[in-house]
Amino acid sequence: MTPGTAHHGPAAVVEALLSGVGASRVLTDRNSRGSYARDQGPLTEPAEPAVVVLAENVDEVQHVMRCAHRLGVPVVARGRGTSLSGGAHAVPGCIILSLERMNRIIEVRPQDEVAVVEPGVINADLNLAAAPHGLMYAPDPASHAISTLGGNVATNAGGLRCAKYGVTRDSVLALDVVLADGTLIHTGHVTFKGVAGYDLTALFIGSEGTLGIVVGITVRLKYLPVETRTLAAFFPDLPAAAAVVQEVLRAAGATVEAEEGAEAGMLLDLRRNARGDGVDDDFRVGEDVAVPRSQLVHYAAELERIARDHGVRLRLVAHAGDGNLHPTFWVPRDEGVAGMSRLHAALDESVKVALGLGGTITGEHGVGQYKLKWLPWEQSPDVIDLQRRIKEAFDPRGILNPGKAIS
Ligand SMILES: Cc1cc2nc3c(=O)[nH]c(=O)nc-3n(C[C@H](O)[C@H](O)[C@H](O)COP(=O)(O)OP(=O)(O)OC[C@H]3O[C@@H](n4cnc5c(N)ncnc54)[C@H](O)[C@@H]3O)c2cc1C
Repeated sequence: MTPGTAHHGPAAVVEALLSGVGASRVLTDRNSRGSYARDQGPLTEPAEPAVVVLAENVDEVQHVMRCAHRLGVPVVARGRGTSLSGGAHAVPGCIILSLERMNRIIEVRPQDEVAVVEPGVINADLNLAAAPHGLMYAPDPASHAISTLGGNVATNAGGLRCAKYGVTRDSVLALDVVLADGTLIHTGHVTFKGVAGYDLTALFIGSEGTLGIVVGITVRLKYLPVETRTLAAFFPDLPAAAAVVQEVLRAAGATVEAEEGAEAGMLLDLRRNARGDGVDDDFRVGEDVAVPRSQLVHYAAELERIARDHGVRLRLVAHAGDGNLHPTFWVPRDEGVAGMSRLHAALDESVKVALGLGGTITGEHGVGQYKLKWLPWEQSPDVIDLQRRIKEAFDPRGILNPGKAIS
């Protein structure tokens, strides 16, 4: 059987699902299937799902996976579909398994500095629950108000605070995961330390829904800062701004302003929404490469050169503190195929240059569908093959998010 290829028509799949999930949460109408089919990734298009299931508890997730395993139907797990890589795009004839209704914060344990949550909890909601205890959940993707912790785990999401506190993997202690055949397992530990066996928790984090469905997450919380200051620094050009990261606001000739209250919030929102998608009719594609921080200045200059050479426009937003950059290249839509071809050439070169500097094709958004073509540029055939064999061990029928992340 081709991995992830259904042997049964949609009617048989829906009938099987209805034996364990309420009919009002098994959606087959065209509108629902359309609205759950795509994420926010560029360039690749989703296929048509057979059905959408809005799971409300672990039993239902297990039921969905048992049906899918028996019938050989692909399953695409979905949080809120904010992925920027096509990772949550539907694959042909799949079940979209939405976890958005599993959104309970099970407990916050201030004495242990941990919280236990369901996968559909919105990142910002966990922070609201932790704050009265003087605690916070540190990883804060710019999508913190709209993305789920399950999605954050599946993509190993980063964020603005990650240069100091680390990424999602650094804050997750344990997971409950439903495997491809419906088996429920628990990995990890509630203690900060724990080295028993292989680190399966770390393996699931960033696996983009290809190894199992995350149904419970135990996270480590951190103490809220006593005080926060937001600084705005202005530089004459991009390389000068990048250089300051090496100097940490020392001796770089910056004009530094301490911003307060609403102004500070506005600046952070500006950063979170700075990619510029959807603001006009240009065709924009955002990137997510990361380079060693020492290469940041050189890479910023290279990006400007690449944009010039290929005749495309560039906007650069960066998590400069950890070398993760989000260059957005764009061309006017009315330039058609010629513009797109220049855009693709610029994207390819920007990735090649980042890799040449010791970087990676994706710092935090994941490979999904969109970056699959670049994976062999970064990883050797042996490494890709080893990952495929790990995938086969977890998912022998190839039903979990096929065609994403490593394939
Ligand atoms: C405006 C904006 C800003 C963003 N900023 C950042 C940022 O700063 N940092 C960052 O890292 N990302 C960022 N992103 C990308 C995106 O928000 C993250 O990748 C986020 O983690 C996805 O969460 P989600 O709930 O939307 O998951 P989805 O998009 O629904 O899914 C993402 C992937 O996870 C899988 N998945 C989802 N839930 C589960 C589960 N329970 N079990 C197994 N697999 C699952 C899906 O199959 C898919 O492969 C941004 C996106 C937007 C739109």
